[in-house]
Amino acid sequence: MARNTGSVCRLCRREGIKLFLKGERCETAKCAIEKRAYAPGQHGQGRRGKFSEYGTQLREKQKVKRIYGVLEKPFRNYFAVADRKKGITGENLLETLELRFDNVIFRLGLAPSRSAARQMVRHGHFYINGKKVDVPSYILKQGDTIKSNPRKTEKAPIKKALETMKNRTLPHWLAYDFENKQALVQAIPVRDDITIPIQEQLIVELYSR
Ligand code: SF4
Repeated sequence: MARNTGSVCRLCRREGIKLFLKGERCETAKCAIEKRAYAPGQHGQGRRGKFSEYGTQLREKQKVKRIYGVLEKPFRNYFAVADRKKGITGENLLETLELRFDNVIFRLGLAPSRSAARQMVRHGHFYINGKKVDVPSYILKQGDTIKSNPRKTEKAPIKKALETMKNRTLPHWLAYDFENKQALVQAIPVRDDITIPIQEQLIVELYSR
C-alpha cells in the first residue's frame, strides 16, 4: 500500500492546522506548527489563503484523508457509500471514518495516534467480538466489543494504555468494561461527536463537480 514516507509534520503545515499525527509530541512545544505556522517549501510563508474555490475544496478533502490516514481510492469508496446512505452525505462520511477500527483504537486511547493504532491492529493486537481482526479499515458496528489479544496484553504500549484507562474520558459512543477488560461501541458517533474542525460540505461539493 502506498504511504507517506516524508515528514508527517509537513502535512499539518500544509493544511495549516494540527492534524495530531505524532501522538504525545503534538501536545508539546516541539510541534512543528507551534514553531513554523506556515506552509512547507521555499514559498510557504506567502502562500496561505490564496486558494480558489476548487483549491479550498481539495484542501479540505486532503485534510480529512490525512487525519484518518486514508488513501484516495478507499476515501472515494467511503464517499460513495455515504452518498447512498440516508441522511446528510458529509456527516455519513465522517461517521464511517470514525468507526474505522484504527480510529476506534485511537479514540479509546489504546494508541497515541491513528498511525500507531493502525500498526497495532495490523500486528494482531486486538479481537473484535472474540475474533482476531487485523484490518485497520474494518468498520465497527454498534454493539461490537473490542478486547486486546491476551498474548499481546503484556507488551509495554498496551499494558500502559490499559493501566491508565481509568483516568481517561472516552467519547460517549464508546465504553470500557473494567471487569471484562473489553471496550464496547455502545452507539454510532454523530457529527457533533467529531470535534475536529472539518467542513465536510466542501468535500461533498468537490465530489459533486
Ligand atoms: Fe502535526 Fe503533531 Fe507534527 Fe504538530 S507534532 S505538526 S500536530 S504531526
